[in-house]
Amino acid sequence: MSSTLQRIRDRVLDRQLPADAPLLDAVAQLPSEHVPELLTLADAVRAQRCGSGVAVEVLYNAKKGGCSEDCNFCSQSARFATDVDAEPLSSVQGFIDAARDAHARGAGEFCIVVAVRGPSAKLLDRVCEAVVAIKQELPLNVAVSLGILRDDQIERLLRAGVDKVNHNLETSKRYFPFVCTTHSYEERWQTCLLVKQYGIELCCGGIIGMGETVADRLDFLTALQELEPQEVPINFLNPRPGTPFGERSLVEPVEALRFVAMARLALPNALIRFAGGREVTLAGLQDLGMRSGASGLVLGNYLTTSGRSDDDDFEMLNRLGFEVLA
Ligand code: SF4
Repeated sequence: MSSTLQRIRDRVLDRQLPADAPLLDAVAQLPSEHVPELLTLADAVRAQRCGSGVAVEVLYNAKKGGCSEDCNFCSQSARFATDVDAEPLSSVQGFIDAARDAHARGAGEFCIVVAVRGPSAKLLDRVCEAVVAIKQELPLNVAVSLGILRDDQIERLLRAGVDKVNHNLETSKRYFPFVCTTHSYEERWQTCLLVKQYGIELCCGGIIGMGETVADRLDFLTALQELEPQEVPINFLNPRPGTPFGERSLVEPVEALRFVAMARLALPNALIRFAGGREVTLAGLQDLGMRSGASGLVLGNYLTTSGRSDDDDFEMLNRLGFEVLA
């Protein structure tokens, strides 16, 4: 076993400490032939901290497209000519129907997503009304992803019964201005801190493969260690035609798997969720993705792409011995 793998075993598995920056750096440099052993170790850490439970989530795009922001990966920005047709905010009944569908599909978590910089008063009113109705009817964890939030808005979400707020850092602080110029990394960071201050669970992750360096990936992980989100969704860039990142190459599968493992080692207790882009980046290697340290996944039908079938994902989870959490 390489000395890096031995250090992981000693520190993360035996002493139950998170991997620190020097160890994560060593993992990033680990030769590819050692990656299978790395994945096995990360999966052992997942089993030690999370058991065999796997958290399954469905996303609901409640307001599609027409977003004022310029995130270069996103086909919902109004600034890029993409194939996404903007749709207005759903009715409350639309939210409830989508939540019923998510529950029927076997998800334990339902995440309401809107393509906005931050919520208007009308949007927040409707989301809160829908969350109250959904929580009364269904045994679902309800998460929201509403962009940049003020403290009064977070307080309202808390009162409505929201369990978790998603707000991704997306990448490192250094690379963020190459991804988005209409809002700052600091604004995102501030929203994440506020969510934590109000005691709502924080879901905070990002996208791998947007042109960031290995050092950016390490900085991104150490920033997440500082924030300590309960959940870290890991997406892989699925280049969307018409966006500035539309011609980027897919992340190499070995690097995608290495990053999932690094996230588990950096945040051993977090829900590491295998999310968008996995179907194109890992194609037939989905099993390995779930055996790299992930403890959750997002079912297909992401915000603007379709993903895999539910049957394929549940068959995989059963075959790998995971128990889907209610
Ligand atoms: S990622 Fe969110 S904030 Fe950025 S353009 Fe897309 S919908 Fe807007």
